Amino acid sequence: MMLQKLLHYRWFRGSKLLALGAFGITLLPQMALLILSYVHALTYERNELQSIASLSARQMTSLIRAAEITLKDLETYFSQDRLNDARHLQLLQRTGYRDPRFREIGVVNEAGALYLTSLGFIEPPILLQDRARLDLSKKELQILGPLTTQVMQERSLVLALPTQGQGEINILVDPILLSHWLEINGLELGPDGYIAFVRTADQEIIDGAGQLPREGNILSAQPARDRLQLSQSLDDIGVTIVVNVSRAWILRDWRSFFQLGVPIALLSSSLMALAAGHFVALKAQMEQDLRKAIASDELELYYQPILDIETEQCVGAEALIRWQHATRGLLLPDAFIPLTEKTKLIVKIGEWVIKQVLQTQADLLKKNPHLYISVNLSPVQITSEAHSKRILSLLTTHPEIAPHLLFEITENVLVEDAQMHIPEALASIRACGAKLALDDFGSGYCGINYLSKLNVDYLKIDRKFVSGSDVTAQTATVLEGIIDLGNRLQMTVVAEGVETEAQRQTLIKKGVRYGQGYLWSRPMPAQEFALFVADSSPL
Ligand code: C2E
Ligand code: CA
Ligand code: CA
Repeated sequence: MMLQKLLHYRWFRGSKLLALGAFGITLLPQMALLILSYVHALTYERNELQSIASLSARQMTSLIRAAEITLKDLETYFSQDRLNDARHLQLLQRTGYRDPRFREIGVVNEAGALYLTSLGFIEPPILLQDRARLDLSKKELQILGPLTTQVMQERSLVLALPTQGQGEINILVDPILLSHWLEINGLELGPDGYIAFVRTADQEIIDGAGQLPREGNILSAQPARDRLQLSQSLDDIGVTIVVNVSRAWILRDWRSFFQLGVPIALLSSSLMALAAGHFVALKAQMEQDLRKAIASDELELYYQPILDIETEQCVGAEALIRWQHATRGLLLPDAFIPLTEKTKLIVKIGEWVIKQVLQTQADLLKKNPHLYISVNLSPVQITSEAHSKRILSLLTTHPEIAPHLLFEITENVLVEDAQMHIPEALASIRACGAKLALDDFGSGYCGINYLSKLNVDYLKIDRKFVSGSDVTAQTATVLEGIIDLGNRLQMTVVAEGVETEAQRQTLIKKGVRYGQGYLWSRPMPAQEFALFVADSSPL
């Protein structure tokens, strides 16, 4: 639903791919987390069931072992002829009541009649009807029942040991005891879970707690898909413990997490998609606005004076673009130039800049014939012949102004695009009489070798070496190196970002010729710059 709605947004048309990508990328890890939490919940609950089964197993094993020892001891005594009947009774009473888990002990003779219990002799002995359940050939403890015993008339679990003479000694265990264990152990099994002791041989339930199945074979039946069953078989005592719970119950916590997690995941992914789409839409909008801006005069060139650092005479200016955006106010180039480079709009804008500068310079040169104007060139404008041709045609149609222009390019561009059209374009620009400057020098990786081969007239030192917050003794040394290099290669050095008198003094000492920065002026509109030049000492 949400996705469908998302697809109907107007902006979505142009940004489907990105929005879908953002949706997927944010949704995937969240879904992975939900799946992981499901696996974790299942494993955790399985371990819980296992520990419940193990606890029940320990209790059952301990009961059977105790009964086995007691019955085997009694058998030994009973097989000793020396004991008389009175001592047999004493013995039963002593051992029978020693273990609180045993309710009664009985002795059955070879005719199958119960003749002695810990309560006393039974006269006449009662012939047991349920003896058929006992395998007399196996002289080992057998678990019978739970059955309603003839004597007590109560349901009991019977632990019986056949004796040598085809008789039997048995212990009655109160089934409430087993139920009590199981109920406590099975507290965490939910409203429809159950736990049971099952006799492995015939799969009869010895005792259980919870919603025990009414019919069907509890052990061999395949548990339903919506249930989780765990069984632990105690082979040596012939008992299996079965724990069965519904998946809905054991995953109840995970479900609440899931019910909360899925909408959150979808919502956050949709928001990401919206944001990504919105971002693309904003860019698309900006691109559209920019195209209009060129036509409707929203772009403006500001000029920042460049001065002789020693005499403080204005020798020129750098043209810096501004965008008077209809709704967003005055925008600085960093906010839109990168986009214009990506969309190649910079070619058009760059052309507009040169046209403006040519016009301004035509006026300025009338009174200040030595003034030069610096124009920033984007690499896009010179990477192909088609683009650079537009610059060259403007320069060749204004041969009197071209020598008073300076084109700034960054050193990184030169390194990255050395193989492309750039060197050729730069040479043609120079052939028109314009000068070249290497902008932001020191912030890139222009090798000295490469620099020496370039015909660049000016070196503009990046302002981070002049007034940046990280000007240190180390950067001061780099600055000296750059100035020295510039001078040796006969390039005129211009320092950018001069903000204080102290910086000016330092730069003078180090041999920098020109400077530009807030110490003298911020970039300003053309008319203001014309006044600035007029106020400055005559050139
Ligand atoms: P850039 O060529 O390094 O321009 C110098 C930047 O430093 C300008 O920022 C200027 O306002 C700023 N600046 C000047 N003096 C100081 C100072 O004393 N302290 C400080 N902190 N900053 C100072 P702006 O105008 O925002 O220009 C930013 C960048 O935009 C320019 O960096 C340039 O790379 C680019 N740009 C500007 N106009 C054009 C253009 O017409 N075409 C192209 N392709 N890029 C342009
Ligand atoms: Ca520049
Ligand atoms: Ca610069």
